[in-house]
Amino acid sequence: MITQQVEQIMNRGRNDPERSRPGARQTAELKALYKSERGATQVRETRLGLWLAAGVYLLFGISDALLIPDVANQTVMARFLVAFSSMAVMEILAATRVHPKWSDMTCAAAVVTAYLGWLVAAIGTQSVDNFRFYMIFGTIFMMSANLFFNLFFRLSVITSAIILMIFIGSLHFAPILEPDQQFVLILFYSSCFVFTSYVNWKLNEERYHVFLNALEAAHQHKESVERGAALERLSNTDYLTGVDNRRAVDKHLRDLWSEWQREGRAFAAILVDVDFFKKYNDFYGHQAGDRCLILVATSLQEAMRPLNATVGRFGGEEFIVLARVDSREQAAAYAEVIRATVENLALVHSHRRDGQEIVTVSVGASLTRPQTGPKLERLIDEADRALYNAKLNGRNCVRVFNPTDPQTSDENENIAATLRIAIRSDLIHMVYQPIFDMRTNRLEGVESLMRMKMADGTPLSPSQFIPVAERTGAIVELGHWAIRRVCEEVLVPGHASLVSVNVSATQLMSRGFALSVSTILEETGVSGTQLAFEITEGIDMEGQSDVIRCITDLQALGIRIWLDDFGTGFAGLSWLRLFPFDTVKIDRSFLQDTRRPAGRAMLEDIIRLIRNRGLKILIEGVESADHVELMRELGIEFGQGYFLGRPGAVADIPLVGNIKKTGTKRF
Ligand code: C2E
Ligand code: CA
Ligand code: CA
Repeated sequence: MITQQVEQIMNRGRNDPERSRPGARQTAELKALYKSERGATQVRETRLGLWLAAGVYLLFGISDALLIPDVANQTVMARFLVAFSSMAVMEILAATRVHPKWSDMTCAAAVVTAYLGWLVAAIGTQSVDNFRFYMIFGTIFMMSANLFFNLFFRLSVITSAIILMIFIGSLHFAPILEPDQQFVLILFYSSCFVFTSYVNWKLNEERYHVFLNALEAAHQHKESVERGAALERLSNTDYLTGVDNRRAVDKHLRDLWSEWQREGRAFAAILVDVDFFKKYNDFYGHQAGDRCLILVATSLQEAMRPLNATVGRFGGEEFIVLARVDSREQAAAYAEVIRATVENLALVHSHRRDGQEIVTVSVGASLTRPQTGPKLERLIDEADRALYNAKLNGRNCVRVFNPTDPQTSDENENIAATLRIAIRSDLIHMVYQPIFDMRTNRLEGVESLMRMKMADGTPLSPSQFIPVAERTGAIVELGHWAIRRVCEEVLVPGHASLVSVNVSATQLMSRGFALSVSTILEETGVSGTQLAFEITEGIDMEGQSDVIRCITDLQALGIRIWLDDFGTGFAGLSWLRLFPFDTVKIDRSFLQDTRRPAGRAMLEDIIRLIRNRGLKILIEGVESADHVELMRELGIEFGQGYFLGRPGAVADIPLVGNIKKTGTKRF
């Protein structure tokens, strides 16, 4: 309270336009504050002082009895009368909590009446000699007014002046002193008056300075506390968006986590990723990108505040929301609020590749549950897996981690762990599926397909381990290994003249991919023309400029680029426009659908489309003689499928396709 007042006064002083009178107003206000501050303890102090003084005053009754015994009865009576009446008044004032100036006045009046009362009663004494000296004690009343009681300055000086007057007056009424003696005593009384008033003035000044210093100290303390708080805020705030930064998020996470461990209070970690943000940055520029992040962050913060959830920036375009929740449904509801909030911002983003025209977010949430285990990282990892799923499901959607979902299950975590040791533990190998030239029935090449088993020998299908490897980034190392393996295992010994290798988007975007491929070619002595890389329009292909550069480098090595699974993704057509593919592999679902006339018409349309771009066609999933027949009818160059040859070991690669031969060994 007091520091607030000081603050106001100090600030007003700083901005005072009347600089010609620096701080005049400020000083007056400070003095007023000093008075009001002093008032708080004044009554109590004065009251205690009066008790003490009254006691001493009564005790002096003894010296009355010794020095002026003939009037001692009257003086003692006067002493009792004055002491008790002033104490009574003071007690009433203290009880009624009056303004401190009234207690000061009472005290001053008590001092004056105490002196006057004693003097009037004592002045008629016959012990004149004693009384002459005894009179000197009158100065004690002056001292008490000026020095003993902490009365306000003017009052104390007036009180001691009155005592001086009374003394001089008394000399007039009772001329018991010789003129010399009168002179000495008046001189003594006056000196005492001047001296005590001066000391009183000095004391008051000193008290005021002490008060000012204390105020200044309090003010500085408050300022340094505020500065500390501002620094703390700064060190926990993301410089761009103003939401919590990573440091603050980590701390908050740890706090929530230990609360969960201690008291079982559940909470959700919700990861939010801005869709196609790189593309946004590339097209609209970094400043616009920053603005976009700020808008997203601010709107999220506003939306989450009423829900008592905090928003932090977790990385580039990734945010994290932390909220106490009771159920999966609640976590999902929060995640949906987040998604809808950003969608409702309707920030234009006309350069995303999925047909939407505004900025959206993908949201992945995970909440603590009894099986979360003792590690906080696991919760974040689960939210990350849910986010990955949301992206996989077309973005601008919400996924909550589901422990029973095979896509995000613990099993996948086992796979992720096994993938880290798969190569050195010999848990990975390649199989090869023949690709035939349908016109000559000769082997055109083989597609290499990866196989993996768990440490206990359980085989896994690529649809189980490839997505995990892509999510964890293990695909980069696996892919590198696969390319080297097909060179050494198939091309160097000459089991086939062409091998196609499936390459993930993650690999194309990894640094130095083309360089690492050229190193393999150099070390194995294989020509780039013997390799084809099959790519599908995977997730996260938004950093197209990097990918295009990488593909161009690969083509410069002589490697052919094939478009895999054509027709299954939403961006197949734009990919066709973007890259000079050598061959397009039409997904097996189209061939399988040709039993229906509409299906066949669809296949023919696709074929026409690819032909118009002058590209070669390979149809996957050739499963019957009818399929072979149809392909010949349609003039398709290459075919691949169980009917022509199942994936198998190197030794099983056939040279010629036998359309009558069925039931090849399956791996
Ligand atoms: P994909 O590239 O489309 O590979 C063709 C898949 O179709 C293979 O499954 C193959 O066994 C299967 N297939 C071949 N002919 C037929 C047929 O006539 N009928 C049917 N129903 N299926 C047929 P697989 O080996 O399970 O591979 C699945 C996917 O895993 C692959 O699809 C590819 O996307 C991915 N994959 C496999 N190996 C690798 C690899 O080394 N690297 C990367 N990045 N991905 C790989
Ligand atoms: Ca493929
Ligand atoms: Ca395929």
